[in-house]
Amino acid sequence: MELPVPDHVRPLRDQFRAFVDERINPVEHLLYTWWEPGDPGGPIMADLRAQAKAEGLWAIGHPTEVGGQGLPFLDYVYINEVVGRSEPAVWVFGQGTLQDSIMLNTYASQEWRDKYLGPLVNGDIIQSFGMTEPAVASSDATQLQTTAYVDGDEWVINGRKWFTSLARFSKYTTVIARTEERAERPHLAFSAIIVPTDTPGYNIVRSVPVFGDNEGDHCEVEYDNIRVPYTNLLGERGQGFMLGQKRLGAGRIFHAMRFLGRAQRCYDYLCERAVRRVAFGSPLADKQLIQQMVFETAAEIMACRGVALDAAAQLDTGDPARVEIGMIKVLTARMFHNAVDRAIQVYGGKGVTSDLPLERYYKEARLGRIWDGPDETHIATVSRLLLKPYRDAHAAELDAATS
Ligand SMILES: Cc1cc2nc3c(=O)[nH]c(=O)nc-3n(C[C@H](O)[C@H](O)[C@H](O)COP(=O)(O)OP(=O)(O)OC[C@H]3O[C@@H](n4cnc5c(N)ncnc54)[C@H](O)[C@@H]3O)c2cc1C
Repeated sequence: MELPVPDHVRPLRDQFRAFVDERINPVEHLLYTWWEPGDPGGPIMADLRAQAKAEGLWAIGHPTEVGGQGLPFLDYVYINEVVGRSEPAVWVFGQGTLQDSIMLNTYASQEWRDKYLGPLVNGDIIQSFGMTEPAVASSDATQLQTTAYVDGDEWVINGRKWFTSLARFSKYTTVIARTEERAERPHLAFSAIIVPTDTPGYNIVRSVPVFGDNEGDHCEVEYDNIRVPYTNLLGERGQGFMLGQKRLGAGRIFHAMRFLGRAQRCYDYLCERAVRRVAFGSPLADKQLIQQMVFETAAEIMACRGVALDAAAQLDTGDPARVEIGMIKVLTARMFHNAVDRAIQVYGGKGVTSDLPLERYYKEARLGRIWDGPDETHIATVSRLLLKPYRDAHAAELDAATS
């Protein structure tokens, strides 16, 4: 499938694609295990990162003021599509810290910017984000129970989070905690606070296994009377959710493009297998049931790509593109899930073995329907926005009917 890409992005995109396909994909199965803080994959990863830096492919999307290369947003969107062809590529190219670097640069005190920004962009440290809690439905984040109160010039934090991904390897966690007792609205009761992971009372209870492995290092963390300086607050008090949403906005587009990249790799696997495997006297590609899989996968990729690029273009004009971003969060995870499912199917038994990346993708695609908020919450929000003009137009009628 030849997908349209602006001419001026093509050479850089081709460079990334060749790097991913020729140098990362052959060793990607060796790059999934985090070795130690700041080292996402041991010596092979270190070597690939050195190559990426030497070839000018490092941190290309990070703004120049934080030490990145400042590639324009829309160009970077297209690069993410080919980077997404391999799961660990995001760490090879220093892209995993983009959203948090921007958040730190925009909202943190000078002290924390000086301390963390350089190492974050350079790939020497990583960060984590602690919002979800085991005790409450965290998709309704106004229920979060972790609290932070001010004592002198410090915050005192108590609570329990889980699914704080990569916490064990992080230098700090941005924690969302209830700080306001009398907020005007429930969403304004929470703040974002930087907590260095070596703070006494930051206790990692366990790395929660997901689909039988610990690679994502989704940690359960107890905050036991943690004390951090008041200046660890990001932005203003009560802005925690707003910051969290800002962190996710553009990130959801990059993520959608990377899922598109993975789905396109699944599509390559599907088609290659279909033309090469012979059963009942002809290649699988001659069977209509298999042709339908090829058709559905290609069509879903094209459709999702259209919505994702449209959302990116809108975001680039300053429009928050809430409808489109909510849609791509749901659609790309579904599309990726379908693509990998079909690719697995045409490979038969081999499809579910670790000889192919498909079994990993299958797990990832499933998780993508839950993380950053489950499908249902995005569907509810998008539907509310879509229905609003119709509700407004018929408000009087509705009032009369329901009063
Ligand atoms: C791999 C992975 C990595 C993650 N990484 C992080 C991380 O780094 N930091 C972090 O803070 N969190 C992280 N999360 C947590 C994730 O964001 C939450 O799991 C998610 O927001 C849902 O919250 P919950 O698990 O409490 O589910 P709940 O809120 O209990 O929801 C359970 C289910 O209820 C249903 N539901 C909820 N709302 C509605 C509705 N309005 N209408 C209909 N049905 C509804 C949905 O089916 C939903 O799946 C991660 C999760 C996964 C799986």
